[in-house]
Amino acid sequence: MKAPSFAYAKPRSLDEVFALAEKHGEDAKLLAGGQTLLATLNMRLSSPALLIDITGVPGLAGITVQGNVVRIGALTTHRAIERSPEIAGHLPLLAQAAPHIAHVAIRNAGTLGGSLAHGDPAAEWPACCVALDATIVIAAKSGERRIKAREFYRGLFETALGAGDVITAVEFPIPGAGHRSAFLELARRHGDYAIVGVAALAKTTGGTLSDARLAFVGAGPTPILAKSAMAAIEGKKLGDDTIAAAQAALTKDLAPTGDLNGSPATKLHLARVLCGRALTALAS
Ligand SMILES: Cc1cc2nc3c(=O)[nH]c(=O)nc-3n(C[C@H](O)[C@H](O)[C@H](O)COP(=O)(O)OP(=O)(O)OC[C@H]3O[C@@H](n4cnc5c(N)ncnc54)[C@H](O)[C@@H]3O)c2cc1C
Repeated sequence: MKAPSFAYAKPRSLDEVFALAEKHGEDAKLLAGGQTLLATLNMRLSSPALLIDITGVPGLAGITVQGNVVRIGALTTHRAIERSPEIAGHLPLLAQAAPHIAHVAIRNAGTLGGSLAHGDPAAEWPACCVALDATIVIAAKSGERRIKAREFYRGLFETALGAGDVITAVEFPIPGAGHRSAFLELARRHGDYAIVGVAALAKTTGGTLSDARLAFVGAGPTPILAKSAMAAIEGKKLGDDTIAAAQAALTKDLAPTGDLNGSPATKLHLARVLCGRALTALAS
């Protein structure tokens, strides 16, 4: 199918974006990489009267390291993150997750901000941001605000973004020395959205895990930080019993819904399998 007709604007500053968004209200949609939005237009799932293309706004793309923080501009593409030496060095979890996002052609155009704003619980970046305790920077006509990734997701495809809000960047604290990460997912084919996935991070000292963070993909309406499973392994030497304790604790953390890919019980089982593999990868 083809998209319904729409008007198009390419503002050159955030102030112009805010003015257009205010003038057109719910009739307008921000356009970044277009890898989700244009598909929804083509499928007639959405029919905004105006697309506000934010790719002409300067300063919204790029990766910078400032002290203990890596700042990634909202318009930075998935592929730029995947190939960045700064990301490989400071936030390897993102480099591990990126190849799971769709295919190279889509990763060349799709952006970090677009993925976070879309809020698909089966997407990789939202869970990575939750695992890494990232802060999402949002600009609005009324000023800038920052919100933790774990508080950004409110429900299925529902975020803390309001009308006229623009994600400008994401700030990631650099994990301390001794931290390791792993990103694992199960998908029907490589490049498909995950059925279930996990973004895992922990400090490893002689086989003992601390500061563990486990954020699940596709295991509920939002990315889910598995606090009970994290508590079950905190400060413990990793072995079959600790892995089993973390896997058992996931019952309290996760609430997968059934769909064509599997029942809630199947998805919980898959999450447990991935949890075990991720913990083993962190400790080995
Ligand atoms: C075939 C296919 C397979 C895919 N597989 C995966 C996958 O496995 N995993 C995955 O994570 N993604 C997947 N995607 C989606 C892809 O990652 C998109 O790039 C991403 O979801 C949206 O980014 P975008 O820059 O293209 O945003 P757009 O499509 O331009 O916009 C998406 C939404 O975000 C809003 N938006 C965009 N930027 C901002 C901003 N800075 N501030 C506020 N709102 C904003 C838009 O208004 C729109 O509502 C796939 C896409 C396709 C076409």
